[in-house]
Amino acid sequence: MDLKGKTVLVTGSSRGIGEAIALAFAQQGANIVLNARKPVSEEMTNKLTALGVEVETILGDVSEFDTAKMIVDKTKELFGSIDVLVNNAGINRDKLIMRMTEEDFDATYQVNLKGSFNMIRHALPLMLKQRVGSIINISSVVGETGNVGQANYAASKAGVIGLSKSVAREAAARGVTCNTITPGFIETDMTDALSDKIQEQMMSQIPLKRFGKTEDIADAAVFLSKSDYITGQTIRVNGGMYM
Ligand code: NAP
Repeated sequence: MDLKGKTVLVTGSSRGIGEAIALAFAQQGANIVLNARKPVSEEMTNKLTALGVEVETILGDVSEFDTAKMIVDKTKELFGSIDVLVNNAGINRDKLIMRMTEEDFDATYQVNLKGSFNMIRHALPLMLKQRVGSIINISSVVGETGNVGQANYAASKAGVIGLSKSVAREAAARGVTCNTITPGFIETDMTDALSDKIQEQMMSQIPLKRFGKTEDIADAAVFLSKSDYITGQTIRVNGGMYM
């Protein structure tokens, strides 16, 4: 897909990986719809509009089915299409399973897995009608490996991989692709919150001996959206942490 003038909707794009993804697509000439629950900074929107593309922000919680519909409907109203949907919004509530509450599990599942389903459920009909589209779901390395203290997060992220593959199979006949990116340890607010001890442990598992940058994930998202022959795949961007 040539991204110039296309519409790219990135959930959870007020900071971190989502921000880098939005910026990378804008650098390709795509118009951007930003989303988060809390307001997006003016600095962020200015950075994007400086690239000469159109930028709109639609605030809303993707874990709510009707809010996801509103985000999709409003995008369609503003731009007439959704060419690329990146389901990036995600949260973690890390705890050992013996201490994990039902609320910890449900909250993580609701945003990470249900949120991705909600957005796909509402955006896919439009993409199928267009007979072109790329859906990219941001999972995690721990969705494939599991992790101590992340049973809820890992389960939700593993679910995202199954969701992606099923959507890929259902949508392929109409030219719509669906893929997953599983980031390793990427430097963002989410990982800054981890203790030095955990960060050291993570580093010891990364053959390339550096934490990932948000741009590493953004580059993979742009690459996937440009291909109309890659679907149902899980692209690992993790410095070799899991092979
Ligand atoms: P982050 O810095 O915490 O940013 C998360 C973004 O999602 C924010 O814009 C946040 O804004 C938004 N968000 C959270 N819940 C939302 C909801 N219910 N509805 C709409 N927006 C929501 O996280 P990150 O590190 O960039 O992570 C981005 C994605 O990559 C997540 O799915 C995460 O699980 C995944 N990932 C990250 C790493 C890593 O090492 N950082 C590794 C593997 C996978 P508001 O709070 O304003 O809503």
